Amino acid sequence: MKYTDEQICTQLFDSPSEHHGAVSPPIYQTSLFSFETFEAFTEAQSAERENYVYTRGVNPTTEILENKLAMLERGEMCKCFGSGMGAISAIFHSLLKKGDHVLFMNTIYGPTQQLMEHLENFGIEHSFVTEDAESAIRPNTRIIYVESPGTMTMKVIDLMKIAATGMRHGIYTAIDNTWSTPIFQKPLTMGFDLSIHSLTKYIGGHSDVVGGAVIGKKNLVDRIFQYGFQLNGSVLSPHDASLIIRGLRTLPLRMKQHQANALRVIEYLKTKEEIAAIHHPSLEDDSSLVDNQMTGFSGLLSFELKEGGFEQVAAFINKLNVFKIGVSWGGYESLINSPIKRNNQAELENQGMASGLIRLSIGLESPELLISDLENGFHALKKDEILSKGEVASETK
Ligand code: PLP
Repeated sequence: MKYTDEQICTQLFDSPSEHHGAVSPPIYQTSLFSFETFEAFTEAQSAERENYVYTRGVNPTTEILENKLAMLERGEMCKCFGSGMGAISAIFHSLLKKGDHVLFMNTIYGPTQQLMEHLENFGIEHSFVTEDAESAIRPNTRIIYVESPGTMTMKVIDLMKIAATGMRHGIYTAIDNTWSTPIFQKPLTMGFDLSIHSLTKYIGGHSDVVGGAVIGKKNLVDRIFQYGFQLNGSVLSPHDASLIIRGLRTLPLRMKQHQANALRVIEYLKTKEEIAAIHHPSLEDDSSLVDNQMTGFSGLLSFELKEGGFEQVAAFINKLNVFKIGVSWGGYESLINSPIKRNNQAELENQGMASGLIRLSIGLESPELLISDLENGFHALKKDEILSKGEVASETK
């Protein structure tokens, strides 16, 4: 039977009949599970993947979340982690050995890159390529790892082509699918081996929890469970799993609203002469590529001010009140951020990022409210308020 995403999010695996009719499943806030007999204990311990033994293993509350995420992604198995980085580290620690190479495509989340730099100490190589994976494959390439859309310039790459390349060469393909969530993109159905999420973003959705997940074939996720989960120990607490299950209930609804709000804000941004470029997959030149692999758009976008630099960006951001200044994204609240710092302009240019790049996470507030807030930012640029660093700082709200 085929279930809709809405059914999976709202009902499936909650099993009220197993919990006295409770529609919201209980939180098994326990570190360990006890047994009637020593025989039963040793038997369970010999197959920890299948039995409740210790919460740094399988926990019934977390398992409900894992079952929902696996089915949403149309994967066989999911393992949840204490953070998105916990999930990403687990993949590399479980699937790589000394001498292996990882090929990265598209813009990659900074700490993922830092992790790979650290893994160089253990004899693991990596390199980056923008478009053509085929030409960048080495004899020792073990994983092709991508983000699509990326999360700074939101570029989309051809996932089916990458999955086919991986299959042809017997190389694992893994995608950080956090931007789209499984509601708008299901990479495993396109042939990817692993889909990864920071549950901290849209899936949690309320900016009150940190978590991660890996979804894929059973044998692969079991291997990640054994090494990258149990031994690295990045455990999602059952309490946090319950918060994320609650987030999932409204995920399909929230994603629709994030999309509608973002598209409305983009229409407004298009009218601003101060902007050199807007980045969002809805604006991608190759719309057939987007249509082939995505069914919708989240609310994370960025734009470039024509006149970049720290002072300009700070003047713009400091004038906003509804958008909060902060890291992360994907919550109910709108956020604003920029990669620019006082001294990193050259570094940004090297990475192909403009010095006037500003990122917006469009939340669930009314688009009119968001637009009027952004209007204040543009007004600040027009009014020649960017006189000196001191003045900018004194205007910080
Ligand atoms: N992947 C992407 C694209 C992210 O933006 C982030 C966090 O910002 C992560 C992974 C890491 O997730 P977490 O912060 O939950 O460890």
